[in-house]
Amino acid sequence: MTHAFDIVVAGGGMVGAAVATGLGQSGFRVALVDKAGAPTFDPATPPDIRVSALSAGSERYLQQLGAWSAILAMGTTVYRRLAVWDQATHPLSKLIPRRLGEVVFDAASLSAPHLGHIVENRVTQQALWQCANEQPTVTTLSGNGVIALNNGPEQAIVTLEDGSELSCQLVIGADGAQSRLRELAGIGISRDQYAQQAMVISVRYRGPVEDITWQGFHPSGPRAFLPLHSAGDGYPGESWASLVWYDSPTELARLKQLDKDALLREIQTQFPEDLPTLTHVEARASFPIARQHAHHYHHGRVVLIGDAAHTINPLAGQGVNLGFQDAACLQSMIREAQRAGSDLADAQWLARYEQQRRPANRRMMLAMDAFYHLFSNRIPPVHLLRNLGLGAARALPFARNQVARYAMGLDEKPPSRSHHV
Ligand SMILES: Cc1cc2nc3c(=O)[nH]c(=O)nc-3n(C[C@H](O)[C@H](O)[C@H](O)COP(=O)(O)OP(=O)(O)OC[C@H]3O[C@@H](n4cnc5c(N)ncnc54)[C@H](O)[C@@H]3O)c2cc1C
Repeated sequence: MTHAFDIVVAGGGMVGAAVATGLGQSGFRVALVDKAGAPTFDPATPPDIRVSALSAGSERYLQQLGAWSAILAMGTTVYRRLAVWDQATHPLSKLIPRRLGEVVFDAASLSAPHLGHIVENRVTQQALWQCANEQPTVTTLSGNGVIALNNGPEQAIVTLEDGSELSCQLVIGADGAQSRLRELAGIGISRDQYAQQAMVISVRYRGPVEDITWQGFHPSGPRAFLPLHSAGDGYPGESWASLVWYDSPTELARLKQLDKDALLREIQTQFPEDLPTLTHVEARASFPIARQHAHHYHHGRVVLIGDAAHTINPLAGQGVNLGFQDAACLQSMIREAQRAGSDLADAQWLARYEQQRRPANRRMMLAMDAFYHLFSNRIPPVHLLRNLGLGAARALPFARNQVARYAMGLDEKPPSRSHHV
C-alpha cells in the first residue's frame, strides 16, 4: 500500500529529525523514516559515546524548533572557555615557551554568554523526535530503512524494508555519511580519507564539571577533553567526560586491544598533564575520518543535507552544526517554493539551497584541513611557524576573536581577509 506525503525525510539522526520537525511545523505532511529504532534516553545509564559541541547558532535553531528546553532538561554542559595548545616536542620547542603556544578563547572576550554546549547525541535526537511526534503533520517510522527509490517526474516513491511505499513531491536524504539515498539518486561524492582516525572514550574523573574544554595538538593528531555532567550519587565527587584521541589507524588498533585498566594508564601517560585524575573507562569507539562532498546536493526529487551531503574533519566539532544550517536553509527554500506555488522539488529552489550551502560547507572543510595540516607534522619551520602563529593570535585579540567566532559557530560567515591571522 502507498501512503502519500508532501515530503519524506530519509534518516532521523539529529539533522533529519530537525528538518522534519521544522517542515511539519510549517504545515507540510512529512514522513520521518529511520532504519534504526526510535531514540531512547535514560539518565541513569552512562552517557552516549557520541557527544557534540553544539554552537550558539545551533542552540538558536533548536530553540526555534522548540527542542532546546527538552535538551536542557535532559542535560547539557555549557562551556565558556576553550584552550588550544601545541604539545609537539621538537628541539625548536625549547625556544618557545609553552604558554606562547597556547590560546584560550573565552566567552567574555568574544562578547558571548558562552561558547556552546556539549550534548550527548542521544539527547538532541530524542528531543527532536519528541517535537516531531508532537506535530500532527509528521509521521515517524522507525526500524524501517529506505531500500529503493523511484525518482519520477511527477512524484517520488520511496520503498521501505518492510515493502511499504511512500509517495511524495520531495525526498530529503539525511541518512548520514554512507547515504543510501545519495546512491539511489545517482549522486557521486569526492572523498579523501585522512591518515588519522578518531577514538572517542567515555571516562569518569575526579572533580567537578568544568566549563572549559581543551584540545592539545600532537604531531600524530589532537587529543581533546570535553567535560560532561556529574556522575551522580553512585560516584560522589566524580564527573563524566568524553576524550577524543586522534592517531594513526595502527596506534588506535593497538589501543583498542587494551583492557580498560591498561587503556586508562595509557591515557594518563599520553594525555597532557592538565587532564584531571581519571577513575574509570566506560566505553570506547573508533571512527574513520574522511572529508566527503557530494558532487550535487540535489537530483530530480532528492535533496541531501547533513552528513549525507558533506563530512568534515571533526577536530573542531562542526559537523552537526553545519547540518543544522543546511536544515534551516532548506526549510526556508521549501517554504519559498510553496509560496511561489512551485513544485516542492522545483530545481530553481533546490539550486538556491545548494548555492547558499555548498560554499559555506566548503569554507569550513578547508578551514579544518588547514588546521589539520598545520598541526599534523613535525617539520621544524612549520612547527615554529604554528607556535608563532598561535602567539600572534594571542597578540591580535581582534583578529583572533573574529577567527574564533567563526570556528565556534558564533558567526556563520568567516572574517574578511584583512582579519585573518
Ligand atoms: C569522532 C567524531 C566526533 C564528532 N564530534 C562532533 C562535535 O563535537 N560537533 C559536531 O557538530 N559534530 C561532530 N561530529 C560530526 C557529527 O557526529 C555528524 O556531523 C552528525 O552526526 C551528522 O548528523 P546527520 O543527522 O547528518 O547524520 P547521522 O547522525 O549519521 O544520522 C543518519 C541517520 O540515518 C539513518 N539511516 C541510515 N541509512 C538509512 C536508510 N537507508 N533509511 C533510513 N534511515 C537511514 C541512521 O540510522 C541515522 O539515524 C563528530 C563526528 C565524529 C566521527
